[in-house]
Order: sequence, then structure tokens, then C-alpha cells
Amino acid sequence: MNWFLILFAIFFAAEHLLEYCLTFLNLNFVRRHEKEVPSYFRDKITLEEYQKSIRYTRDKARLGVISSLVEIPIFWAMILSGFFGNVDFWARSFGRSSVATGLIYFAVMSALFYLISLPFTLYSTFVIEQRYGFNKMTLKLWLTDFVKGLLLSLAIGVPVLSAVLWFMDHYIHSLWWLYVWVLLAAVQLFITSLFPVFIVPLFNKLTPLEEGSLKERIRAIAQKVKFKMSGVFTMDGSKRSAHSNAFFAGMGKFRRIVLFDTLVNSLSESELVAVLAHEMGHNLKKHVRTGLLLGLGTSLLGLYVLSLIIRAPWFYEAFGFKTPSSYAALFIFVKASGSFLFFLEPLLSMLSRKHEFEADRFAVEAIGATEPMIKGLVKLTKDNLSNLTPHPLYSFFYYSHPTVMERITALEKT
Ligand SMILES: [Zn+2]
Repeated sequence: MNWFLILFAIFFAAEHLLEYCLTFLNLNFVRRHEKEVPSYFRDKITLEEYQKSIRYTRDKARLGVISSLVEIPIFWAMILSGFFGNVDFWARSFGRSSVATGLIYFAVMSALFYLISLPFTLYSTFVIEQRYGFNKMTLKLWLTDFVKGLLLSLAIGVPVLSAVLWFMDHYIHSLWWLYVWVLLAAVQLFITSLFPVFIVPLFNKLTPLEEGSLKERIRAIAQKVKFKMSGVFTMDGSKRSAHSNAFFAGMGKFRRIVLFDTLVNSLSESELVAVLAHEMGHNLKKHVRTGLLLGLGTSLLGLYVLSLIIRAPWFYEAFGFKTPSSYAALFIFVKASGSFLFFLEPLLSMLSRKHEFEADRFAVEAIGATEPMIKGLVKLTKDNLSNLTPHPLYSFFYYSHPTVMERITALEKT
């Protein structure tokens, strides 16, 4: 058997075994705590609300396990039966250029993997999210979103993938990986900076926040911390989901602060200002830039590693390809890299949690009070049915944010 396939199988198995163990630990932990609301929240969240959040956590975890129990065997059957190579053989039969064949290959594979995961996506939205009152989407809206998303990914994906494959084909003996990286970095920067202006409006309506005390207070805090902003908007997030959120998007003069209408309706003015000050903290403390650079660094390293093995026959044989090609290399890379990088996830989560603590502290210093931040966090936890009692190992591994309790404890110390 192919040694690369064995290595991949080991990483893949380790990844999923660990995932199952952590999920199991977490569900057990939650069950052991379900009889009583954690003491801090006793006067803030009822036992009924707490138990509802536990059921929500459990339902989501179960769906995750079931979907992986279906998807994993299908994926491995595809690898071991030589399916990926057979589709390649079929795509080549059209006699098109290497780039066009690559586009056909990726189109078929993306559609296939999308279809496999589709029942679980639908179940998550229309059954689980519905059950807990979060889903506000009709099937019609879902379909419109699907069509728009498909057109958008074609409009962006086809030219970008064509360019990537072209660079790979033409510079396979020199620095293709560097050129591809520069191209992808440029595309990413371009999309991130234009995101709130050209992409968000395709799906949502952004309304400038009306003049009034909230806008005044946001402006005042931005001025105080020297945060340059070019607009505060509310977004009709409630037409899809009752989950609430806020985000900063775009760069330069396209930078926007976007508040979900669900958030504006749930939090008081002071709490909203605290949440925004936290987001400003992420920007001013350069967390956003660090994240971006880290992502770019990882992809540069990944592409470089791929360049070292891209001409080795065992690389293609492992996934059942009979003929090497740029698109096959890219496909294997996309499918395999996740398992090899999985064990870096806790490091990234740790860094992200450190940033969250820093942004919380920043917000408190900017506002000069801890109360609004804490109250806002409790409300968000309650509204979103967040798990109040995750297993420490589970949250250590996966959580990009510290648990609410950890954040509140840290806030109370400032
Ligand atoms: Zn944050």
C-alpha cells in the first residue's frame, strides 16, 4: 500500500477519534451539570432556559456525529475504489485543455461533496434551528440564497481557479507556488476589503444607523479610542436567523461596522457600545491583521510543501489518480491538508482566546465600566443558547472564544 495514504489515514483516524472523544466528554459533562444552573447565572438564567441550551448543544453535537458517520465512509470508499481517478478519466475524455479539464473536475467534485452534506445542512437549519426558534428562513429564501451563492462562487471561483491552474501548469518547474500564493493573497485582500460593499448587500439589506443617541455614543467611543470608521449599519439578520451578532468588515474607506438587527433589539445602548468597543479593540490591537498574516503564512507554507511533492507519483496514486495533473494535486491538497493541520487547531484557538481577553479588557478601559460588557455577554449567551458548561478539554480544543464564565471572571478582575 501507498505510504502517503497510510500516513494520511493515521492522521485522519487520529483527528476523528479525538473529535468523537471530545464530543463524548462534552456531552457527558453537560449531562452531569444539567440539574442545576451554574451558580453565577442562577438569578439571570432560569433552569428551563439552561436545560433548553443543553438540549440545543446535544442536538447539534449528535447531528455532527451522525453526519461524519455517513460522510467518512463515503469519502474513504471514494479513495479506496479509485473513484477520484475514474472521474478524472471521464473529465479528460472531453479532450479539453488542462485548465478546462481542471474546472470540470472541480465542478463535479464540489457538486458531489455539496450534495452529500446537503441533507445535514438542511436538517440543521430546518429542524434543529427551527426547533429552538432560531431559524427564520423559508425554503424559498433558502433556494434564492443557494442560487445567489452558486452564481457568486462561479463568478469568483472560475477565474481564480483558472488562473491558479494556469500558473501551476506554466511554472511547474519554477516558482508556481509563490505566484499562486501572491494571486490568492491579492484575491483575498480584494474580497475582504470589498465584502461589506459588494457581497453583503447581495444577501442582506444594510441600513445606515439612524442619527440618535446610539450613533452619538458609538461615534464618541470611536473618537476616544482613535478608531477610524466610515459608517455604522444595521443588517436585517433576522430574516434568516434569530442568532445575534455584530461584525466589522472591509478595509480602508469600505470599512463598515455592521450590527444585526437582532443584536440591536436585544441589547441596551450601553451594552451595544461595549460590544462595539470590544470589536474596535480587535482592530486596534491588530488582532485582525495578525489573523490575516497567520492565514497567509500557513497557505504559503502549505503551497511550498505541495511544490516539493507535486511531481511524486505516490502523491497521486494515494488518492487513486492514474495521471498527475495540477488540478489533481490541488484537489488532494484541499482534501488532505485539514487532517494534517488539525492538531494545530488548539494553538489557533488559544491565540484567538487570548485576543478575546485583550479585546474585553480594551472595551472596559475604553468605556470605563465593566457592567455593560458583562450584562451584554450574559444576554448574548442567553439569546443564543450558548453552552454554559462545556467540558474544559472541549473548550480548550475548539473554542475560539473563552467561555462566558471565563470572560466574566476576567472582566471582574479588571
Ligand atoms: Zn471578539
